[in-house]
Amino acid sequence: MADVNPDFMKLASGYLFPEIARRTRAWQDRNPGLEVLRLGIGNTTEAITPYIAKAMHHKIDLLSDRSTYTGYGDEQGDSELREALRAFYQREYSVSLKATDFFISDGAKSDAANIQEIFSRNAIVAVTDPSYPVYVDSNVAGGRTGEYNGVNYDGFVYLEGRKENGFVPSPPDCHVDLIYLCSPNNPTGAVCSYSDLEAFVSYALREKAVIIFDAAYSDYIRQDGYPHSIYEIDGASLCAIEINSFSKNAGFTGVRLGWSIVPETILSGSGEAGVLHRLWNRRQTTFFNGASNIAQAGGIAALSEEGRAECRGLVDYYLENARIIREGLEGLGITCFGGINSPYVWACCPCGMTSWQFFDLLLDKAHVVVTPGSGFGPAGEGYVRFSSYGHREDIMRAVDSIKENING
Ligand SMILES: *Cc1c(COP(=O)(O)O)cnc(C)c1O
Repeated sequence: MADVNPDFMKLASGYLFPEIARRTRAWQDRNPGLEVLRLGIGNTTEAITPYIAKAMHHKIDLLSDRSTYTGYGDEQGDSELREALRAFYQREYSVSLKATDFFISDGAKSDAANIQEIFSRNAIVAVTDPSYPVYVDSNVAGGRTGEYNGVNYDGFVYLEGRKENGFVPSPPDCHVDLIYLCSPNNPTGAVCSYSDLEAFVSYALREKAVIIFDAAYSDYIRQDGYPHSIYEIDGASLCAIEINSFSKNAGFTGVRLGWSIVPETILSGSGEAGVLHRLWNRRQTTFFNGASNIAQAGGIAALSEEGRAECRGLVDYYLENARIIREGLEGLGITCFGGINSPYVWACCPCGMTSWQFFDLLLDKAHVVVTPGSGFGPAGEGYVRFSSYGHREDIMRAVDSIKENING
């Protein structure tokens, strides 16, 4: 009998984005001809930049000629790209890693979901609340929790981000084995300082825990005083895995390319070096056949001097959108967080409204779609997330519509 996986059955239904789509469609049916302005999903909108696009065109030319055609590459990724990443960390962050510590993937989401497979089913997992849903859902499906209790899952340790702690929680006050951190944070836009990360690294070293650090938005950090990589913290190469992606800085959300760093030096719970690196290598070479070679050619170009300059321009564009959103909302008296070293503005719902109440109000009155904070976890209640991913003209129309139709 092909019984279903009971751990998968624990995943709470009503995933956030389908519910947003349902309410948006229902509104459109009631208001035919009116346009909705979308500041909801975190999906890039601006074109792939010329130097990076040219490198991918060139790769297609090579593939179109039998004398330069290549098929499967290394599952761990093109050695040139792994070396380019190593050099990039050294050059920009003064972080020394080995090229073989880098594993190229089809994006950070897959790695964030899959990395739990190399840890024990009995591992105690800490996640921040609110958080990117993948960390939670992959560990629920991986059997590390009890049932959904109507608020959250039994068995997880939730680290709450609230305005009192600047949405950066402290390490747990109990033992855990795995800790998921995301900085700059999706959804809150909060960024961990050096001392915030030092506290987590020293906790992990003491408790023999592993930190999974999601740095997908590291290029959005423009102010000094914030680490771009967890390996800028002493001791992190003994206790941290870092996940990153070309999605948000090179516009590769559709191209698909990311990487994970599982250093050879990282220690397992029993204090052994090399085993986590070896298991991730085993996992990737067994269950993954490598990222697209066209995407990887784009990745190599994105890490060159020209590519870095283009990515910077792209990120500047979204950061300016974020500034416009934040200033517009603050002009209405709405309290905002994030949007400075992050593409996301985390806005406090006015007048004590819940996340979904403010969502409905923004949709009804201003025709603007946002993401309800409560969809990222119970501590997100009372907030909504504005995304800066959009064409400038659409962002400005949305902000103008909010200014005209909502009284803060
Ligand atoms: C967008 C995003 C990613 C990137 O995912 P890809 O699969 O590389 O597109 C990773 N982590 C977070 C928190 C994100 O918001």
